[in-house]
Amino acid sequence: MESFKTAVGANPAPALRPPVVRLPKMGPQAHNPSLREPTPEEVRRALDLVAATETVAVLTGAGMSTDSGIPDYRGPSSPEASPMLYDEFVTSAENRRRYWARAFKGWGRMGQAHPNTAHEVLARLETHGRVRGVITQNVDGLHEAAGSANLIALHGRIADVVCLGCAAVTSRAAFQEELARLNPEAAEDPEAGHAELRPDGDAVVSDWQGFVFPDCPACGGILKPDVVFFGESVPKPRVAACFDIVDAADLLLVLGSSLTVMSGLRFVHRAVKSGRPVVIVNRGETRGDPMATIKLNLGVADFLTAMEAHTVHV
Ligand SMILES: [Zn+2]
Repeated sequence: MESFKTAVGANPAPALRPPVVRLPKMGPQAHNPSLREPTPEEVRRALDLVAATETVAVLTGAGMSTDSGIPDYRGPSSPEASPMLYDEFVTSAENRRRYWARAFKGWGRMGQAHPNTAHEVLARLETHGRVRGVITQNVDGLHEAAGSANLIALHGRIADVVCLGCAAVTSRAAFQEELARLNPEAAEDPEAGHAELRPDGDAVVSDWQGFVFPDCPACGGILKPDVVFFGESVPKPRVAACFDIVDAADLLLVLGSSLTVMSGLRFVHRAVKSGRPVVIVNRGETRGDPMATIKLNLGVADFLTAMEAHTVHV
């Protein structure tokens, strides 16, 4: 098959933009394709667009992992929560104490999460050569667990701990055992591991004043979960590797991300600038919607299952 880019030629935008659908007046949501159920024709058009490409780059967000029991804290049903900022973490031992007390409680649920259908289908699509690579904003490690191979964890991995002094990376599971040894009372708390969890592995905990946490045993530096905090930049080489994935594919598929932060939105900008179509599948509005070739207000597992049936012929 002729490649998508070759087939479309130098000016793909007009051919790819779906025709404007005039909808009956049924309240404010009927006018906004971001907020209503897509019609079967709209889903079909997205699947055809994906099928017309050789490979796609995929960007995933929290909506990918909600079926694995990890809540999307930007989603409509999520509790109000303000995540700790990078500066708050590194400048205050008390803030770090509060963070680790919460993370200690939340770890059990994060550690027990398993990949869901969406992770599994996405990994299979890569095996079949349909997916060029996956950029995930999630830190939960579930894409790796499902078998995605060409994968970049944009915001790091909650399974790792990094020393801000010597840059040594160690296991979060081993760190959890150390925290349990240092905080026997918290370890015996029946709520340990079951506290209300947020996607960054941070649970809601009120009693944290007495919590004990270690610094780096090698250099005395600050230990931090190896995830990008709000107010912290993604390392430049990691961003460059993500751009390579977008540039190597014919289309960018965004799954389950509201694209609230620029660290994810920039890949939509990148694809649009280079003339690549962008398909966004997300429950609710996203910051990328105005740039999307097609936006579907749909669950990611439903879309991926349909995409596999539509594009993989074995
Ligand atoms: Zn160190």
